[in-house]
Amino acid sequence: MKFPPSSADHGHACVLRVENLSVNIGSDCILKNVNLHVHCGQLVALIGPNGAGKSTFLKAVLGQREYEGVIAFSQPGQRSRKPRIGYVPQSPAFDPSDPVSVADLFACCMSRRPAFLGLGKSMRQTVLECLERVHGVELIDKRVGTLSGGELQRVLLALALEPMPNILILDEPLSGVDIEGMENLMDMLDEIRKTYDLSILMTTHDFSMLPRYADQVVLIDHAVLVHGDPETVLASAEFARAFQMKGGKP
Ligand code: ADP
Ligand code: MG
Repeated sequence: MKFPPSSADHGHACVLRVENLSVNIGSDCILKNVNLHVHCGQLVALIGPNGAGKSTFLKAVLGQREYEGVIAFSQPGQRSRKPRIGYVPQSPAFDPSDPVSVADLFACCMSRRPAFLGLGKSMRQTVLECLERVHGVELIDKRVGTLSGGELQRVLLALALEPMPNILILDEPLSGVDIEGMENLMDMLDEIRKTYDLSILMTTHDFSMLPRYADQVVLIDHAVLVHGDPETVLASAEFARAFQMKGGKP
């Protein structure tokens, strides 16, 4: 099963090719024969009811789940190098009373220096440059546990963009973010993918964003129910069935 070409596909090579992907956990079949192609510079949204297997799919792509089938990466123009993948996990919960700052979080992830020693001058400059990519330099000294949903997503995004990946994978980046924050985040993802020519694969329950930002939408419920451009998927009988019957929010 292949994606129909979309307007964003012209001449764009495939950076991620998933064919007949199946994932079993114990005796449960979580995903069956899923096919998906992500092209260079595309934003592909994976949607589906809770428990449909969206996060499991992302974990298989990230190499964190055993699977059957094919997951192949390619990097146009650089045959020998595997693309770099950036990952923004579903929002982790941080304790508001925890003293860890955004700078400390970067220090833990990017430097071998113990966080309690603080950031060196050049490291602080690097963190500011990372936060600049998500218009978030003012967040550097804030406690992670006190960030709003949108601010936390921007910080996690900044972390995932260093070093700059070829494919960015985000698991429900819009959950816990208010409507204004959602638009800001989607605008930012759009800007980043155009500036750095990266491909984005994300899961979401916020379908109102899809027509404006997604090139392809894939609706799954353990298997692909329908895929195509956002308008086609949102208007499909499969979409209505998947969400109206299960109490989703189409
Ligand atoms: P989604 O992200 O679409 O809500 P998930 O991929 O998280 O769905 O989960 C799909 C199904 O797989 C669920 O029924 C979930 O309980 C099951 N599942 C996910 N991870 C595990 C695991 N580590 N062990 C057992 N079952 C799991
Ligand atoms: Mg999930």
